Amino acid sequence: TQELHIVGGGMAGSEAAWQAANRGISVVIHEMRPKVETFAHKTGDLGEMVCSNSFRSDDHEQNAVGLLHWEMREAGGLIITTAHQHRLPAGGALAVDRDAFSAAITARLHAHPNVRVSHEEVTELPDDGYWIFATGPLTSAALGQAIQRETGTDRLAFFDAIAPIVYFDSIDMSKAWLQSRYDKGETEEEQRAYINCPMDKAQYDAFIDALLAADKTEFHEGETAGYFDGCLPIEVMSERGRETLRHGPMKPVGLTNPHAPDVKPWAVVQLRRDNALGTLYNIVGFQTKMKYGAQADVFRTIPGLENASFARLGGIHRNTFLNSPTLLDDQMRLRSKPNIRFAGQVTGVEGYVESSAMGLLSGRMAAAEMTGASLPTVPQDSAHGALIYHITGGAEAKTFQPMNVNFGLFRPVDGLKGGRRGRKDRYKAYTDRAKDAWSDWLAAQEPIQSAAE
Ligand code: FAD
Repeated sequence: TQELHIVGGGMAGSEAAWQAANRGISVVIHEMRPKVETFAHKTGDLGEMVCSNSFRSDDHEQNAVGLLHWEMREAGGLIITTAHQHRLPAGGALAVDRDAFSAAITARLHAHPNVRVSHEEVTELPDDGYWIFATGPLTSAALGQAIQRETGTDRLAFFDAIAPIVYFDSIDMSKAWLQSRYDKGETEEEQRAYINCPMDKAQYDAFIDALLAADKTEFHEGETAGYFDGCLPIEVMSERGRETLRHGPMKPVGLTNPHAPDVKPWAVVQLRRDNALGTLYNIVGFQTKMKYGAQADVFRTIPGLENASFARLGGIHRNTFLNSPTLLDDQMRLRSKPNIRFAGQVTGVEGYVESSAMGLLSGRMAAAEMTGASLPTVPQDSAHGALIYHITGGAEAKTFQPMNVNFGLFRPVDGLKGGRRGRKDRYKAYTDRAKDAWSDWLAAQEPIQSAAE
């Protein structure tokens, strides 16, 4: 019988193994630790949490992460059920005792009759057999090179450069306006690609002062190996000269403010559309290492963004990830080598929860393919579906950067109030719709053949 090889026993690999093994598949997990180490992992355990001990919000009515928790629980997810068993008091967040958690993940997988664990580094993308690569943000160097040989060097990044992402409906369009620089782009759709926020000289000066004064996070020890100057944080750009941003990402040229056509702005902050739905916009060139609280304060000084809601804040981290929109099909298979799937953070999602969720899907997809079972398309209205649709189809490929789950990835529900005031009802409508869709999807799958749950 065929085996399913899973490379990486982190969040995604552990979950993928569990899901496939529970569907009667023989699984081999290839985990390089403790023989080969990363700068962040400390143990040889499966499911090790490298930093925070929190799986974030457990609220499944008002929070997209909590909704992923709910969906994974309904699907018998290993990561989420084990997290609940080792929960620590943390208000609305799901925080765990990290050592007990990863010890339990390790024990449950070792005890599973269909799972074997082999501690070794995999350094090639094999031509035969069924494989899931879930090697995470710190994919080993040798494997990274093998992936680049297959995909091209520009399709696998080693650092992210995340600009903050804003919900479109929180931008004040009485101050901001839609326009592509020099009116580039032929179609109306292309003209809608950018939103512009004007600044006068006093606003620009205050903005630069705030950037320079804001609290920043540092790189972790060992994290900067291989970092190059190509994608500087905005605060570093402004340290190099107060005018640098005005001549760089904030240059005010090729744009006319329809709210004040005779006034030439001193600087312009541009936001670029981030998803096909048009619900999210990223602030162009604004990758940053400012702390989250400071980012929100500084960015809300931008005219038009005073009430901005952020789908995610900016960051720069060591992070190995694929250009999934161009490389993966909707089953997370490498288009050029479909015996290989990718899962977890390396596919361009971010966080323990999102990575586990992509592991869950990949494990079920591989198992269905190997047994010839039917697997209906993951519903786009579920949180899992919104994420997988984003990374494999909905996201802009050219500017693709890792994404957390958030309600901006969901298709709008018709007939609901926009803006902040309608938010509570809107989120409840998203989560209700998601739960129905996810439950239907689970119910449509063939029953588990060999359950160790
Ligand atoms: P991982 O959990 O990293 O698992 C990948 C596994 O693959 C590892 O065990 C690794 O040893 C193994 N591996 C790699 N290459 C090979 C190979 N060639 N052969 C065999 N095995 C291999 N997320 C949060 O939600 N909260 C946080 O606070 C947080 N902090 C972070 C801090 C740092 C410094 C880093 C690097 C990441 C952080 N993340 C955080 C992101 C988090 O690591 C991921 O979201 C999550 O662990 C990803 O799950 P994964 O399964 O994709 O990767």
